[in-house]
Amino acid sequence: MRATDDTGFLREAQWQDKVFNGTWVRPLGGVNPVREPATGEPLTCTGNADAADVATACMAAAQAQPAWAAMDPRSKALIFRAAAGHAEANFAELSLFVARETGGSLLKGNHEVREAIVLLHQAAGLLSQPHGLLLPSAAGRLSYARRLPHGVVGVISPFNFPLVLSMRSVAPALAAGNAVVLKPDPQTPVSGGFLIARLFEAAGLPKGLLHVLPGGAVAGEALCLDARVGMIAFTGSTGAGRKVAETAGRTLKKVALELGGKNPLIILEDADLELAASNAAWGAWLHQGQICMATGRILAHASIAEELTRLLADKARALRVGNAARGEAELGPLINERQRQRVVDIVDASVAAGARLVAGGPADGLFYRPTVLAGVRPGMPAFDQEIFGPVASITSFETDDEAIALANQNEYGLSAAVISRSVGRAMAIGERLNCGLLHINDQTVADDCVNPFGGRGNSGNGGNVGGPADWDEYTQWQWVTIKDSPPLYPF
Ligand code: NAD
Repeated sequence: MRATDDTGFLREAQWQDKVFNGTWVRPLGGVNPVREPATGEPLTCTGNADAADVATACMAAAQAQPAWAAMDPRSKALIFRAAAGHAEANFAELSLFVARETGGSLLKGNHEVREAIVLLHQAAGLLSQPHGLLLPSAAGRLSYARRLPHGVVGVISPFNFPLVLSMRSVAPALAAGNAVVLKPDPQTPVSGGFLIARLFEAAGLPKGLLHVLPGGAVAGEALCLDARVGMIAFTGSTGAGRKVAETAGRTLKKVALELGGKNPLIILEDADLELAASNAAWGAWLHQGQICMATGRILAHASIAEELTRLLADKARALRVGNAARGEAELGPLINERQRQRVVDIVDASVAAGARLVAGGPADGLFYRPTVLAGVRPGMPAFDQEIFGPVASITSFETDDEAIALANQNEYGLSAAVISRSVGRAMAIGERLNCGLLHINDQTVADDCVNPFGGRGNSGNGGNVGGPADWDEYTQWQWVTIKDSPPLYPF
């Protein structure tokens, strides 16, 4: 069966064995077969970019960029609004494809398309904002600072929320006057790449400004090395992010890193336990835990830890695991065999180290049941490592200071949350947590793309996506002075 019926907006015939450079072309790097995680069946086959394909794209992007930067802002804004219009008009088709390709639920597919639409409107809005500062200056001299694009921005994105995570860089980077070379994860090349190419193609983006090259680490490294690329926006694992920063450092590029997380949710003894369990379950298991902001550590006051564990285990047993894109289950499969094995290994090693498996565990193939691990302590892999699987790890504490120390006992610093009936006490705890995103009386997964988003430490290098942060990231300052005539200097 074909991935699309070629009467809709997405046309498999266009991208079959190809990459996008404004038109659809066969790359030198060969082909990239894509499998649907929930069924194990082939879904589609795209082109696979190698280093030479990346070099060609970077050259074409660098050539196309100056005319785009000079184009009038209103005309540019129309393109983003038109792209948003195409996403709205084809919402159901796009959502279903994203759900199928990522192994997610339709709810998650809908979320990604909805956020992509907001990001496109946000990008259009950037084009009517002021982007400079009039600076104090001596008489006879006009002094101002303005934002200039980097030139070509390389975007590297992961498999888990590929549409949002690509679009959150592609749209503002283009709006700020850059050309973009996008390398989506080869497991989700359509949701993370070709879907975006289709939207901009249909919206009339001039050719050469957006290149979409599915490929692996070889293509990613080539993008980081290319001297024509002024900035890399990377979202993915901390290990790959470290390599990206090292590689891009050789040509002194700007690098924005959005990396992994091991996010704590602290639940105090005065919390409504039904609500707390609902928050913990959602944060830990949504999209099978394959979210950078997933609730990776549930820190529960010792007096409520047992009851919370029981409530979570009841929820785990009630959830269905299966083909979530077809509405047959709440949770779908993990992305691949390697990731499933990683989850199995972390849970097994934690149980061997003394944690208690209360519910869940492996199911068939890529499916893994929502899991509850109690008695998790620092030093166990379930406490220390990002799992990227549907595992709720519960650790108990006695005092607020101990909760804070446990929460900060980790090199990640992405999201954190505190649940308590006392907002003042929760906020006092929150103030002392090492994180880029803090939520009081909520769980850790929250991504509203109009806000700055980002982590600290091993989670990345700043709050650099969304809203006002887009100007900071996708442009750099230029200082300009103008005098009527050159002054006479002492010599
Ligand atoms: P990954 O690091 O394996 O891959 C991410 C992307 O990097 C892919 O496109 C991959 O092909 C590319 N890549 C891999 N090695 C590379 C290299 N040496 N040079 C250049 N590119 C390279 O990550 P993943 O497994 O796809 O995604 C999961 C990870 O991403 C998790 O750690 C998760 O927490 C993180 N993540 C972070 C955010 C965030 O906003 N902070 C969002 C989503 C996912």
